[in-house]
Amino acid sequence: MCGIIGYIGNNSAAPILLDGLRRLEYRGYDSAGVAVLSPDGQIQIRKRIGRISNLTELLHQSPVEGVTGISHTRWATHGGVTDDNAHPHFDQSGRLSLVHNGVIENYASLRDQLLAQGHVFRSQTDTEVLAHLVGRAYDSLPAPHSKARLLEALRSALRQVVGTYGIVILHEDVPETLVGARRGSPLVLGIGKGENFFASDVSAIVAHTREAVYLKDYDLVALSKDQFEITSLLGGASGFEVSKVEFTEQDVSRGEYPHYMLKEIFEQPASIRDAMRGRLSREDATAILGGLQMTSAELRAIDRVILSGCGTASHAALCGEYILEHLAHLPCEVEFASEFRYRNLPMTRDSLVFCISQSGETADTLAALRESKRKGHRTLGICNNVASTIARESDGGVYMHAGPEIGVAATKTFTSQVTILTLIGLLLGRIRHLSTSDGLRILDELEALPDKVAKILTLNSHIQSIARKYADATAMMFLGRQFNYPIALEGALKMKEISYIHASGHPSAELKHGVIALITPELPSIFIAPEDTVFDKNLSNIEEVRARKGPVIAIGTEGCSKLEKVADDVIFIPKCPEFLSPILTSIPLQLLAYHTAVQRGCDVDKPRNLAKSVTVE
Ligand code: GLU
Repeated sequence: MCGIIGYIGNNSAAPILLDGLRRLEYRGYDSAGVAVLSPDGQIQIRKRIGRISNLTELLHQSPVEGVTGISHTRWATHGGVTDDNAHPHFDQSGRLSLVHNGVIENYASLRDQLLAQGHVFRSQTDTEVLAHLVGRAYDSLPAPHSKARLLEALRSALRQVVGTYGIVILHEDVPETLVGARRGSPLVLGIGKGENFFASDVSAIVAHTREAVYLKDYDLVALSKDQFEITSLLGGASGFEVSKVEFTEQDVSRGEYPHYMLKEIFEQPASIRDAMRGRLSREDATAILGGLQMTSAELRAIDRVILSGCGTASHAALCGEYILEHLAHLPCEVEFASEFRYRNLPMTRDSLVFCISQSGETADTLAALRESKRKGHRTLGICNNVASTIARESDGGVYMHAGPEIGVAATKTFTSQVTILTLIGLLLGRIRHLSTSDGLRILDELEALPDKVAKILTLNSHIQSIARKYADATAMMFLGRQFNYPIALEGALKMKEISYIHASGHPSAELKHGVIALITPELPSIFIAPEDTVFDKNLSNIEEVRARKGPVIAIGTEGCSKLEKVADDVIFIPKCPEFLSPILTSIPLQLLAYHTAVQRGCDVDKPRNLAKSVTVE
């Protein structure tokens, strides 16, 4: 979480840093700050709680001059949201400033040691302890001031640290260099002409350069305006590759849309198509997923699939469980990554593990991947961010190719994940029992999906009017069966995340086993009830809610008159096979959550307490 950007070059640093922070604000937004080396050789820090606009205002009143600087937008883990706790932090000497993404787990004992030596802390953060630790190491090394001395100090400080970090340091004694390091939190180097950058995410720097080096854990970097040097914290040089950033500045702009979330919802016909592009083979009547790096014989030998992720990705995984069981008849289990990493799950020798993460940096999912690999299982990634740690450390995988997702509430990457899991189901199914004609039928249906999604999006204003009708509700219930039970969970999560209405998702049949007690005329129930094998069962559940005067919003299949008779409001999706219906039924629920949140005056793209890409445990 949190955003970092560092700049060293010939241009004024503050506007570049502020622009980068604005682009990173989706990664954390409780406070922000900059440290700039002013022409008199002193570091000037400005920081403020609240959004980047507050910091902009502060810099307006109290500008900072200089061509080298570091900055941060925070998602607090240790210490409340206060100006003092905002980054950058100074060391004891006030000559070193540091920004940090991650958590220093042993900060309390380190802080006690430093306090005993007379250090004075201005914040309650774990990060300030790290700044003092590096500063103390620097001051204890012999003169002269140099880049090598700063790197040595950082190395020795980080040896004492337990935890995760992406850090960038600016020191008054070494004005021509920024120093950075990472372990467990992402950090990227942006290579410009006569200027260079550090960033936690390439979207911060893509307006300036598309040449990037995605740093690895334990990389230590010394960056000047026209060169950089990467060594390993473990000793010696560290190999690196300069990559071309896939997307442009245009791709990370909001365009005509009032919110990124709405833009991303409307991008789904294209993002679903991109998830399938080049992966559908009519000749073999199957999906081609070369990134899995597995032969047909290896895929045939799999006897169990584990799908792991967090939040929305875990709901996509649950969709995957139904799809894989249906198409490939394979035992499949979904595990929250945070549970998987500590659980000693009994696994067969031929279990295949998929770790699903949009950013590819989710700390829990990355830990699940490492635990699975440690146990010798083939572990694959499903990620959107091509150069991410999960993508790099997995044994293979499938990229979503959804383009940058900036809205904190995941939308297009959810449907991309479910699309990819369907392709995996098709591939594994075709190796087992699906015939050529089965495969071709599935390909036809997959190819028809983007147009069906586009058709659902034309219902935007109808969905907006439904959202307005129920926007004052204090709670909502989402219900679905079989393939659409995970969509009930995802619909409820979207509603909670951005509108702050308490919502819960359940299998429709579970209603009578408990939650029916909640039904009142004030509690809207949202039924996901397309025409499928369990449609009549859903209909009976709707009747049960109606009998208790609960309002019902239903998502159904076009032309279904039965639904219109029992529900207060209906949103229709085009016909499709039931295993593909989650991709379609999720779209109206995204729009319903979006319009409800807008109606309630919520900050849709930056919901309370949340941040994109959860890189802390
Ligand atoms: N743990 C640090 C803090 O609470 C960094 C949090 C972040 O990654 O934004 O300040």
